[in-house]
Amino acid sequence: MQPLTIGAFTVKSVHEDTGAYITPADMFPTATADAVAAHLDWMAPTYFDIASGKLKLAFQSFILQTPQHNILIDTCVGEDKERTHPDFHMKKWPWMDNLLALGLTPADIDIVMCTHLHPDHVGWNTQLRDGRWVPTFPNAKYVFARDEYAHWEKESAQGSERIGLTFIDSVLPVMEAGQAVLVDHDHQIEDGIWLEPTPGHSPGHVIVNVESNGERGAFIGDLMHHPIQVPHPEWSTCFCWDMEMSAASRTAFVDTHTDAGTLVLPVHFAGATAGHITRYGNAQKFTFLDDPS
Ligand SMILES: [Zn+2]
Repeated sequence: MQPLTIGAFTVKSVHEDTGAYITPADMFPTATADAVAAHLDWMAPTYFDIASGKLKLAFQSFILQTPQHNILIDTCVGEDKERTHPDFHMKKWPWMDNLLALGLTPADIDIVMCTHLHPDHVGWNTQLRDGRWVPTFPNAKYVFARDEYAHWEKESAQGSERIGLTFIDSVLPVMEAGQAVLVDHDHQIEDGIWLEPTPGHSPGHVIVNVESNGERGAFIGDLMHHPIQVPHPEWSTCFCWDMEMSAASRTAFVDTHTDAGTLVLPVHFAGATAGHITRYGNAQKFTFLDDPS
C-alpha cells in the first residue's frame, strides 16, 4: 500500500504477508458457490487465486502518524509464536525490516492499538528476548478495549483459548511490563482519533475512526476480511465469535460509509488495501484507491 494522507495525518502499511489462504466455502459458511462465482471477474487475480480456488488475504499493520504520535494499529502474526494453526506457527516474516524501511524503529512507536486480540493482530506486541516475551515497543502505551481484554483473560484462565497461547505470550507480558492501558470501547486516543465498538468477530472488537481537516478514515481491523463482503456484508467468517452480531456490525458500517468519502483501511484486503465504499446498482462495492475502473 502506498502512503496515504487523512487531513494532517499520514497512513503507512507495514506488510507481513499476502497469499492465497482459504477457500470461500471455508471462509464464509453461509456463502453459496454461485454467489461467489458472480464476483470472480473482478476478484481474480489480485483478490482470488484461480489455481488454488482460495481467497487472497493480506496481513499488515498500519502506522498512523499525527503531529503528536506514531500510532501502530494491529501487529500481525509476529515471529517465533507457538500457534495451533500452521499458517501462524513459529513463523519468520520481513515485518520488522519493513518497519525499519519506513524510517521507524520500535522505539519510535508511541501508541500500539489492537482492534482485537486474535493472534494475527497482536503478534508483534512482544518478541522473544533471552527466552522471555517482552514488549517490542519500549516507549509505547498499548491500548486495549477493556471488554476484549476481559474476554481473553477469562478464556486464557480457563485454558480454553482455542488459538493457542496468544494471550499469554502477546498480551499478558505487556500488562506485566506496565505498558498496557485498558480503555472503554469509545475511547478517544487523541483529537480526531477515536474507537467505536463493532462486536461480533470478537466480543470487544473495535474500529479506529479518524477525522482531520474534514477528511474521514476508518481502520476497521477484521470487521471485513475480503472486499467481497462489501456487496455481501451478511457473510461472516468461520473465525467470527458471533456470526449474526458480526454481520450486523458490518452491515451497519457499510451502510453508514457508502458514498461518504471515508477512507476505509482493512487489515486483510490484498492489493492496494485502502479504498471507499461506493454504491453499485442495488448493492455496494469496494473501490480501491488506485483502481481505475
Ligand atoms: Zn485478522
